[in-house]
Amino acid sequence: MAAPSSKQLGLYISIPFCRSKCTYCNFASGVYPAAEHGRYIQSLVDEMRAARSWSENLGASLPSRLDTIYLGGGTPSLLPPDLIAKLFDAIRAEFVVEPDAEITVECAPGQLADATLDAFAQAGVNRISLGVQSFIDREAHQSGRLHSRTTVLDDLKRLRSTGITNLNIDLIAGLAGQTFASWQESVAVLIETGIPHASIYMLEVDDESRLGRELMAGGIRYHAELVPTDDAMARMYETAIESLLVAGLPQYEISNFARPGFESRHNLRYWRRRPYLGIGLDASSMLQATPRSPEIRESGYVLRSTTTADLRLYMDAPQPPETAWLSPERQHEEAWFLGLRLNGGVSVSALRRQFSNQMVAHALDTVELLAERSLLTFDGETVRLTPHGRLLSNDVFQEFLEIANAHASLTAG
Ligand code: SF4
Repeated sequence: MAAPSSKQLGLYISIPFCRSKCTYCNFASGVYPAAEHGRYIQSLVDEMRAARSWSENLGASLPSRLDTIYLGGGTPSLLPPDLIAKLFDAIRAEFVVEPDAEITVECAPGQLADATLDAFAQAGVNRISLGVQSFIDREAHQSGRLHSRTTVLDDLKRLRSTGITNLNIDLIAGLAGQTFASWQESVAVLIETGIPHASIYMLEVDDESRLGRELMAGGIRYHAELVPTDDAMARMYETAIESLLVAGLPQYEISNFARPGFESRHNLRYWRRRPYLGIGLDASSMLQATPRSPEIRESGYVLRSTTTADLRLYMDAPQPPETAWLSPERQHEEAWFLGLRLNGGVSVSALRRQFSNQMVAHALDTVELLAERSLLTFDGETVRLTPHGRLLSNDVFQEFLEIANAHASLTAG
């Protein structure tokens, strides 16, 4: 697995436009007239140009070399070629893009015009992530997706003929109307495509999506009554892990599976806490302090920031992102719950090099308790989630949040 470096930067760019809103979607995205796309790209360019002075004023280090770029959303494939060229020209004017950089774009099947695909290829895009969610047409349509299985298979052919073979497909376990058999069929079709990366998510039920709100209210709109039970979703997830492993795509993160060497380098930055800059609506950044800010650097602080999720505000009255310096206690907590997402787990000796012995020892007490409940394993060096722990990962992460809170109140007292 390629290790993302701290000397280089990952760039995330949020493109919040969609052709229709999926019932389960809890992202800051929406359906906006095409005329808004140009204004938004100009706002992205302005934000990118201001990023260096913004970070310098804060005392945060912004590496100038990019080794990953990720256009997510939303549906970046809705952008016309001239706006794609404008965006990538701005990226290359502000940063040095490494020759072997991983450049990913999220696409909705059936929403990638030939001219747009050519513009992406010309801009150096070498990885495409397709939001398929289900290969069963009825399930996809009931969820608000506009494509069929045939559309996806045709898109894969077009992408490969353009030379883009580093491909990901997203599936969701838990869509309305899904059965165990239909889920197995979706996973089998994904495997047959021969793609090197898959992301498998379990339906998130929260009040940020229309389907989530309906489920929480016990209603039947959006076919909420046909959503599988939590136990059925868990079985679907477990069977996908087994089938993908047999097909040569072992799991490397709670939701991600890849042939060796095809793990998402950009997403590894998040889980390994390497620097990244997020530009655009509701985008987050994580940067380290510069040597020129010794008081911040010596206390080991890291900057996190988030841009507004309000599109009007973002375009009409741009404000600097909200920022917070993360204390070593908060970083230690993140190191646990982000690191545990990876099947490779958390190296205790690496944590000891970064954080105080007292903090790590405190966390290891919790590890012992969670290991007794068969949620974690610890071999003396590496702590990993068990398969059971992966299903209950939010509960496990909560325990590590509680350690950080307890530690903060102890040190404050
Ligand atoms: S395409 Fe993606 S971002 Fe857009 S509505 Fe559907 S899930 Fe949300």
